[in-house]
Amino acid sequence: MAQFPAAHFLISAWQPRQFPADEGREVAFVGRSNAGKSSALNAITGRRDLARTSKTPGRTQLLNFFALDGGQRLVDLPGYGYAKVPAEMQRHWQQLMSSYVESRESLAGLVIVTDARRGLTDFDRQMLGWVHSRSVPAHLLLSKADKLSRSEASRTLKEVQGESGGAATAQLFSAVTRDGVEQARAWVLATLAGR
Ligand code: GDP
Repeated sequence: MAQFPAAHFLISAWQPRQFPADEGREVAFVGRSNAGKSSALNAITGRRDLARTSKTPGRTQLLNFFALDGGQRLVDLPGYGYAKVPAEMQRHWQQLMSSYVESRESLAGLVIVTDARRGLTDFDRQMLGWVHSRSVPAHLLLSKADKLSRSEASRTLKEVQGESGGAATAQLFSAVTRDGVEQARAWVLATLAGR
C-alpha cells in the first residue's frame, strides 16, 4: 500500500501524444459511467482526491494519469456508455481507448469495473478482447455487490468467471461494505510490482 499516499496527478490526455512517456508500469481502471469506478478507486487507494480529479468538469472524458513511486502509475480511463454524446465524440473515444489499450507498452493490467447486478456488458467484452489479445492481465470488479443477496452475488460471480474464461480474474466488490477492497488492492499492487 506504500505507493498510494504518494500518488499525484500527472496529466489528462485527449490524444495519444499527450500520454506520459511509455515506461515503467501502470494499472488502468475502466468502467461504464455510473458503474462505481470512482468509488472503487477511492476505496482501493484511500485517496478520494484521485477520482475527484477525474470527475472535474472537462476531465471526465479524458485519460487521467496519476504518478506513484518508482515509475509506476494509475490511469483512470474515461467512462463509456454515454448515450447522449455525439457520434463524432464516440468515435474519437473508441479510437483513443483502442489506441491506449492495444498499444500502451507500460499497461501492466486493466481493472474493469462493472455493476454486479448487470453482469458483463458488450463493452466489458470488447475490453477483455483487446487486453487478452496482448496478454495483459485483466481483473473484473463486480461492483455494488451489497445490492445483491449472498446467493445472487455468488451466482453472478460464477457466471462472469465462466464467461470470461481465462481472459480475466473476477471478484465481488463493494465500496459501501468494503467487501473485496483488500483483494482488489492486492491485485493492483501485485500487478504494478510485476508479480
Ligand atoms: P462512476 O461513474 O463509475 O465513477 O461511479 P461512482 O463511483 O460515482 O458511483 C455511481 C453511483 O453508484 C453513486 O451514486 C455511488 O454512491 C453508487 N455506488 C458506487 N459504489 C457503490 C457500492 O459499492 N455500493 C452501492 N450500494 N452503491 C455504490
